[in-house]
Amino acid sequence: MKFAVLGDPISHSLSPAMHSAAYEALGLDHTYDAVRVQAGTLGTRLKELRHKGYRGVNITVPLKEEALGACNADAFALRCGAINTIDLESGLGINTDGPGFVEVIRGLGFEPGTSVLMLGAGGSGRAISVALHDAGYEVTLWNRTASRAQLLARTIDVGWSEHIPHGGYAVAINATSASLQGAPLDMQYLPNITYIDLYYSDGVTPFVEAARRAGAPAYDGRELLVAQGALAFEFWLGVQAPRQAMRRAVGL
Ligand code: NAP
Repeated sequence: MKFAVLGDPISHSLSPAMHSAAYEALGLDHTYDAVRVQAGTLGTRLKELRHKGYRGVNITVPLKEEALGACNADAFALRCGAINTIDLESGLGINTDGPGFVEVIRGLGFEPGTSVLMLGAGGSGRAISVALHDAGYEVTLWNRTASRAQLLARTIDVGWSEHIPHGGYAVAINATSASLQGAPLDMQYLPNITYIDLYYSDGVTPFVEAARRAGAPAYDGRELLVAQGALAFEFWLGVQAPRQAMRRAVGL
């Protein structure tokens, strides 16, 4: 079977190496490619890929919202306003970023009831906030454009703050794309808070570097990459994903 990740840009993605490692670990003869798909062309490209025999695709920046109109979204994906995984056979689209992140935070030992600060109210911030709130975490939202945080907080029934609060939460999540501009978020980093970046790059990300400099534990976006990828794998193939092989393939 053939699978792919679609986005623009896409050459930096670790998904092909991660999924290929999973197939190899289970002795499966599947392939996984990275395909550049420009915004506004997803519907046409999905038809093309289905005709070429692709069974499923992951969707990344900037196509997650456009994907809502290009397949049948399940109820959770509709609430998230974003799709990151499509089964091309059934046409069903789901969001594994939200539940994937809940796997990550639980795996780090933070149980429901923990207070988390979500930095960013874009597509990923929204999906993960919905999933954390559903799972029983106390979410406070902050966003550079405050009105967006306020609107999202009202829609999904979580708290929000106009300024980045100094403490009062156990986990801070960076769901902004500030790292793409190469700078850490302008905030106070405290040693007793755990910092989780959704972004990953070749080296240490600016957010992780700033947190570690303050003596705090910090993790980059490879944690979510593996968790959301494992859930997509299980959605398509109906067998448990080999998470350890997937972690090794992305350097964890
Ligand atoms: P998005 O929908 O474009 O949202 C971008 C967010 O970043 C908005 O909240 C925006 O605020 C904020 N922002 C942009 N530049 C900023 C700056 N200089 N300072 C502060 N805030 C800034 O993007 P997305 O899809 O949510 O993705 C966000 C990040 O998560 C990206 O780095 C992406 O790579 C990462 N991600 C990783 C995974 C994974 O598997 N590891 C999965 C999903 C996403 P405004 O509203 O003010 O513009």
